[in-house]
Amino acid sequence: MPRRMLRTRSRKRVSVRTPGGRVVTHYKEEKPGYPRCAICGDKLRGIPREKPRKLSRTEVRVSRLYGGNVCHRCLRYGLEMGVAREWGLETPPIYGRTS
Ligand SMILES: [Zn+2]
Repeated sequence: MPRRMLRTRSRKRVSVRTPGGRVVTHYKEEKPGYPRCAICGDKLRGIPREKPRKLSRTEVRVSRLYGGNVCHRCLRYGLEMGVAREWGLETPPIYGRTS
């Protein structure tokens, strides 16, 4: 039985043949959960599921305002609400938005 910390499916297992001829199981580093939107909690698209220190600065974000923190739907809604508030509207005008 492997150690308790290794009994998880988020660690990838690799079979390695040792110099002595035995085949042993090596455990790779645990993968973190998906990066999620700060507002709705949805998975963020375009950002790989790796620890942030393993990625370059351009890989942990997408080239958009709040990219890498907030999903596109929440950003659009926030911007529309900001504009609506400035125009003195209660709700933003809906241009093809379904949600
Ligand atoms: Zn969101």
